[in-house]
Amino acid sequence: MFNKILIANRGEIAIRIIRACRELGVKTVAVYSTADKTALHAQIADEAVCIGPAPSKDSYLNSKALLAACEITGAQAIHPGFGFLSENSHFVRLCDKCGIKFIGPGADAMDAMGDKANAKKTMIENDVPVVPGSDGVVGTLEEAQEIAAKIGYPIMVKASAGGGGRGIRLVEKPEELEAAMTAAKQEAKQFFANDDIYIEKFIVNPRHVEIQLLADEHGNVIYLGERDCSLQRRNQKVLEESPSPIMTEDLRRRMGEAAVRAAKACGYANAGTVEFLVDKDLNFYFMEMNARIQVEHPVTEMVTGVDLVKAQINIAAGLPLQYKQEDIKLSGHVIECRINAEEPKNNFRPCPGKIKSIHMPGGFGVRIDTAVYQGYEIPPYYDSMIAKVLVKGEDRKEAIQKMKVALSEFLIEGINTNIDFQLNLLRDEDVESGNFDIGFLNRKDLTNY
Ligand code: ADP
Ligand code: ADP
Ligand code: MG
Repeated sequence: MFNKILIANRGEIAIRIIRACRELGVKTVAVYSTADKTALHAQIADEAVCIGPAPSKDSYLNSKALLAACEITGAQAIHPGFGFLSENSHFVRLCDKCGIKFIGPGADAMDAMGDKANAKKTMIENDVPVVPGSDGVVGTLEEAQEIAAKIGYPIMVKASAGGGGRGIRLVEKPEELEAAMTAAKQEAKQFFANDDIYIEKFIVNPRHVEIQLLADEHGNVIYLGERDCSLQRRNQKVLEESPSPIMTEDLRRRMGEAAVRAAKACGYANAGTVEFLVDKDLNFYFMEMNARIQVEHPVTEMVTGVDLVKAQINIAAGLPLQYKQEDIKLSGHVIECRINAEEPKNNFRPCPGKIKSIHMPGGFGVRIDTAVYQGYEIPPYYDSMIAKVLVKGEDRKEAIQKMKVALSEFLIEGINTNIDFQLNLLRDEDVESGNFDIGFLNRKDLTNY
């Protein structure tokens, strides 16, 4: 096991990782920007190193400063959390060269999943269902027209190197195809310095269902059930739950086994998530693999009882998985609500500022992951998510009720949050009955409360 781990992140995920290290008896090094001098992670870690000014590109994305901090403190491994450098294979290779263990998949596995047209090919070869579409990258308009006519409109033009919803265009009619290709290529070139595009069928009103995986460095891979993340605003997840309201035992097994094949196909090790779209007939299609721990990982921790962050560290230390597939048992129903410093009634505008007072909920089956405290000033430079509230009930109905109670106890003064929006969401009859898809929050305005 490592003696000391550096956490290359901030906010609640940095706290989450520090806790896991402590439980394993590993010392922790926090890194912080000048804007985060008073941040909780910089205060509770065993050591803290300032790595640069407020903008992420000068601090949390500054790989040289991070590696220098390892050198100074003697940290043997880096946990990247999510966002920032977590899916940057160049950084992984730098860590390898410096003899620092990156707690995540290897650079080659990351690259294999990073190029989406390429990843799709690998999936097809490994019998993982993908959205019907082009066989890899599409070169010419004629080629695109031919493929689109074959699979039928509407279709999507997507950037191979895409991420964060960029480089994607919906095409409803043949006459829109050329303009969409040009626009997607242009955006892809601008953001990813790579204008390769591919085409796939547009799945109408699907759900987003993802499978959590753990893979060790000895070839063992297991799945830990699913998370339904269909409640999204502009492709950003708002509320996640497990089990998915549409799940059956047979579908879970088939999706889980497909996700395991996806990981094995690229020699993946550590925690990872395979995202699928599920259509109304319960056909599922591979969308992408996230090569990192995710925001919503506690949902899975609470239904399975498995500590995913400790598992990540154990895997990186070379230990074999502690669990076999048959050890993974799901119990109860878990919901997570993301609490953001934002103003839902003002187009969800971020709302940084000072927390004058705060009262957090608690009780049986309630978990809060956060890094804020009374008197803390939320800086404007980073993500607006300030807390995650999770509840576990015996069933979905009880979980919804428990979440309503928890959120109505949650008081924050000094800044605006989306707590009332989340409460309104939980009161919606379609949400209550589990009847929604990824477009739900774009079609229904729930900001009138
Ligand atoms: P997905 O990409 O599947 O939506 P997540 O919801 O886990 O995955 O995270 C979305 C992305 O938002 C992350 O990859 C990360 O880039 C960014 N992000 C969200 N919250 C934070 C945060 N607190 N700090 C840094 N990045 C964040
Ligand atoms: P990114 O890497 O930017 O997250 P994804 O390929 O995961 O890109 O797609 C982003 C979002 O676009 C998905 O979460 C889903 O809501 C939507 N989407 C992607 N592909 C399709 C498709 N073929 N049909 C319908 N919706 C899609
Ligand atoms: Mg995605």
